[in-house]
Order: sequence, then structure tokens, then C-alpha cells
Amino acid sequence: MAEGILLIGAHMSISGGVFNSLLLGKELGCTTIQIFTKNNNQWKAKELTPEDAKKFFENQRKTKISPVVGHNGYLINLASPKEDLHRQSLESMLVELRRAEFLKLPYLVMHPGSHLGSGEKEGIRRIAHSIDWLHQRTKGYKVKICLETTAGQGSSIGHRFEHLAEIIERVKDKKRLAVCYDTCHTFAAGYDIRTKKAYDATFKEFDNIIGLSRLKVIHVNDSLRDLGSRVDRHQHIGEGKIGISGFRLLMNDRRWEKVPKILETPKEGGTARDIKNLKVLRSLVK
Ligand code: ZN
Ligand code: MN
Ligand code: MN
Repeated sequence: MAEGILLIGAHMSISGGVFNSLLLGKELGCTTIQIFTKNNNQWKAKELTPEDAKKFFENQRKTKISPVVGHNGYLINLASPKEDLHRQSLESMLVELRRAEFLKLPYLVMHPGSHLGSGEKEGIRRIAHSIDWLHQRTKGYKVKICLETTAGQGSSIGHRFEHLAEIIERVKDKKRLAVCYDTCHTFAAGYDIRTKKAYDATFKEFDNIIGLSRLKVIHVNDSLRDLGSRVDRHQHIGEGKIGISGFRLLMNDRRWEKVPKILETPKEGGTARDIKNLKVLRSLVK
């Protein structure tokens, strides 16, 4: 990662092969991207071949996009109290960790999970146990699970910094864990960043409870819904309830210089909206 490079990008499609995401990202002007390691709405996936990896590394060298961050599939729920779904989630997450490691991705962002009525405490316990199980089966791996902050929709865990702190506290191998801060999710969960005062207070709280050294990925999304609504609906930068002021503070915060800042804004309208959102983010940097 060269000095002075603005680390911004967007979630990119892997259709046609994981290696294509890098070329797409380059076209849009990304210096970092996020990808799913496999189709995010299916359990099964075709195995990655050495040829896939070779093309991936080749394109990474050509585009200089770094880091490439992985994101896990939406079906996985490590907090599920349903035995069969929990088992399937573990197996699937294991496959995703293998794929991420194969492609040398430093982080695999993961939604902590939904407790589905079993309660937050039990959900947190299940997630921590599951991560221990995964760590035991992936000894020596470099890829880190990156726990994402959530909006708190339904019974999802991760809408309080305390949830993530407790998961980390319970996991044996803590150095293999990182945290992803999603600006839309946290805002919907009640953490304000719209004014300097609110922004500073939010990250002070994050530091006190989780520790800023864990923060390795930022998802840069405006929020369609209000502060504390607990509804997870992403909006284009500056066009939602957070508004441009919050993103100006974020983009000029030197603490995130080496943290990839990745858009997950709506994809309708194609790449034009990604390009525009990236342009807005770039324009905010003083
Ligand atoms: Zn996510
Ligand atoms: Mn996110
Ligand atoms: Mn979301």
C-alpha cells in the first residue's frame, strides 16, 4: 500500500470469475474493493481452481488494488439456535474462510448473526463458540474474520458495540478477529456521526468498548432511515439521513488512512452511481 493513496472502493461483482472484480474495480477508479467469495445467496459453490487464483493475483498486480476484502454469504447465521441451520452455517463459513485464504484476502467480513428469539446472550455465546470451532479448523490461516456492526434489524446481534466486544472477549484466539464499521448500520442502530461532537463521541465509545485498533474495514453507506430506526437500508452518499457532513468527517479522519473505505450503496443504475459516490467521497478530502 503506497503512502498517500486514498483507500476507497466499492463492493464488486464476481460474475464471470473472482478475477473479474478487480478489472471492474479499476474501471471505476477503486484502490480497494470488496467481493463475495462465492454466490452470496446459495450454499453451494464451484471450487476455486489454481487457475482462478493465478488470474486473480495477476489482475491484482496489474490493477494495484489492495486490499481486496471478502464478505460472507447472507445465508450464514452462526447465532442460529436451529441445529441444522447452525451446522450448515459453520460448514459454509469454513468453506468461505478457505476460499478467502486461497485468494490471500486479509479479511472476511461477517455479519455476527441473528439469535431468532433465543436471546442476545445465547446468540453471542453461539457466535463465539462457532468462531472458536472455525479457528481450530483453520490453524495458520492469515485471513481474519471481521465482525460487522449491524443495524439491529430483527434479532440481529452487533447493533451495540458491546455485542462485538463480548464476542471478541469470549473467542480464544482474539488476534484473528477484526471489526468492520458500517456507517449506515451504526447510524440506524443509534450511533450518530453527523456533527463533529457526535462523530467524536461515537468513535470514543467505539474505542472504549472495542478498541480502535480492531477497526480494519469501513463500509461507507448513507442511510435511508433515521438515527436509531434499526432499519438497514443503504443510500447513496449525501442523499440519506446521515448526509454529507458525516462523510466529510470520516474522509478527513487520519486514523482511517490505512483502513479500506468501501461503498455498498444501491447498485441500480449500474456503475454510474458507484463512480459518482466515489467522486463525492474524493471531493470531501481536504
Ligand atoms: Zn455486510
Ligand atoms: Mn456493510
Ligand atoms: Mn446493510
